[in-house]
Amino acid sequence: MVRREFIFVGEALWLDFVNTEAAPRGMREDFVSDIEALADWLEVSLKLNPAEVETWRCGVTGREGQLWTELRTLRHALRTLCEISFGETKLNSRMHREIYEIINRQLQRPARSELLAVEGQAIQWRRQLDLSDPLNILEPIARSAADTLMGGGMSRVKKCSNHACILWFLDTSKNGLRRWCSMDRCGNRNKAAKHYQRSKSGE
Ligand SMILES: [Zn+2]
Repeated sequence: MVRREFIFVGEALWLDFVNTEAAPRGMREDFVSDIEALADWLEVSLKLNPAEVETWRCGVTGREGQLWTELRTLRHALRTLCEISFGETKLNSRMHREIYEIINRQLQRPARSELLAVEGQAIQWRRQLDLSDPLNILEPIARSAADTLMGGGMSRVKKCSNHACILWFLDTSKNGLRRWCSMDRCGNRNKAAKHYQRSKSGE
């Protein structure tokens, strides 16, 4: 199976979800624009096994419209939340309320069970996502955003310093100085551009 070109630089599930819209070639692209692509993304990001992916895929039939509407609404709200915290979008109280209503709608899903799992001698919690309702995949994404919000992490949500790049990430570095979505993608390119500028001006 050919792995798709997904981007996992967000350091948080909800930011990886926002980053399913990216502009690696200058134009904005949606990396989860069909069910197959979304299934592949969910398998990796929610760590689903093949049987769980199959359960989810079966449930999607006939509910595609509702799934895409809710998914895109949540993704847009979360991107707006990033832009607000980064000062790119001015916050007004109506927008504020709407974003939290959208997140809350997904948090309300009875999507998850907490079960006890035995691993050798140890017992630990195992979270199981109920995939019989295909829209339940939005609950862990919304919860991840809520965790960042409530954990005081929004000040660490940053946009890549490459202006052509639209990727977001949670800066988990010790010094809080992370600037790039990744060195490979944008950091090295910036270094090379600066080097080129310097060598030109040194001529
Ligand atoms: Zn970037």
